[in-house]
Amino acid sequence: MKALIAGCGIAGAVTAVALRRAGIDVTVYEAYTRSADGVGAFLSLPTNGLAVLSELDLLPLVTAAGFPTPGVHVFDRRGARIGDISYGTPLPCGTVAHTIKRADLYRILRDACEAAGARVVYGKRLASLESTEDGVRVGFADGTTAAGDVLIGADGLRSTTRTLLDPTAPAIRYTGIIETGGYADIEVDDDPGTLHLTYGRNGLFCHVLHPSGAVWWFAQPPHPEPIRPSADQWRADLIARYSVDDSPAAAIIAASVEVFTPYPAYDVPTLPTWHRGAAVLIGDAAHAASPPPARAPPWPWRTRSPWPATCATPRTSPPPWPTTPRPAAPASNAPSPKANSTATWAAWAASPPR
Ligand SMILES: Cc1cc2nc3c(=O)[nH]c(=O)nc-3n(C[C@H](O)[C@H](O)[C@H](O)COP(=O)(O)OP(=O)(O)OC[C@H]3O[C@@H](n4cnc5c(N)ncnc54)[C@H](O)[C@@H]3O)c2cc1C
Repeated sequence: MKALIAGCGIAGAVTAVALRRAGIDVTVYEAYTRSADGVGAFLSLPTNGLAVLSELDLLPLVTAAGFPTPGVHVFDRRGARIGDISYGTPLPCGTVAHTIKRADLYRILRDACEAAGARVVYGKRLASLESTEDGVRVGFADGTTAAGDVLIGADGLRSTTRTLLDPTAPAIRYTGIIETGGYADIEVDDDPGTLHLTYGRNGLFCHVLHPSGAVWWFAQPPHPEPIRPSADQWRADLIARYSVDDSPAAAIIAASVEVFTPYPAYDVPTLPTWHRGAAVLIGDAAHAASPPPARAPPWPWRTRSPWPATCATPRTSPPPWPTTPRPAAPASNAPSPKANSTATWAAWAASPPR
């Protein structure tokens, strides 16, 4: 069997490793002409995502590159601790959720994908898709084509595969939130690895003390328009926004040695069609999550994982690959800030975390 994967991001790389373990021939086509080494901020991997990495024997590499972040303390705008959230039941080996730079996670997964024998071809932007008698034929923006038994569309939020599968697929939606984050050189009186999430008057802020002493943070303030300010402009704006709260947010932002380029957050409405013929969508292409607090980068693999949560020892034979994937379940039944409305977001943010 020959699988074609569009997109060598997080979902594409993990899927390639899993398919190779099932003995399937895999070629991954990535639109960019170079890899995304060094790009991106950081993300947290709950234990259900780590369980999948464990089954793929990638857990030691990922945990070594990240740091343990087992849970979240939640604060209101007055600094009162209003709840605690676990980042998932520890794995049987005791491993808890970890936080890692996206670039480090990506490098590990991309290297694993190539080490597993998948071909990764850069500079191949998927542009067309047709069903054939025995599978699929895809075309790329450079005019070349490829054929396979299946196509897995792992081409992210702005997926081309999604539109090729269903030209009437709903468009991505601005969530009303501008995301950014950074690394700060400041002393905080926190336990390393415990995330501190503050529902501030003007937006959500989260920080965590890295074992090295640096403070990693992200902010998700609402904004009516999907603007793309510069990091310097946004830093000043953020300090003003968060200084009204009884929290260390403004001081942390001011002490930042790096502020990530801000970007508007989008999500994908529930898709009526996420597979057709021998083509299927995974990851952000199928279900990009709304940001706070359900930002869930391991979503692409945790919703598809056919394996239980274990701390795997290497297998002698691969587990069976599921032949009837189920549609992704919604993140929760809780209201989410999906509407393009600051008021909706604010009302949601003001309600107690679930
Ligand atoms: C460069 C980058 C940096 C990121 N940084 C962060 C971060 O710091 N924190 C965070 O929480 N999330 C980050 N994300 C998003 C996060 O990786 C995803 O939300 C999540 O992991 C889902 O992964 P995915 O593989 O579905 O999508 P993505 O990780 O977005 O990967 C999609 C891949 O498909 C490729 N692609 C797009 N269109 C085509 C096409 N037509 N043909 C072929 N390939 C195509 C893209 O170049 C990309 O490599 C980042 C994404 C990218 C691409």
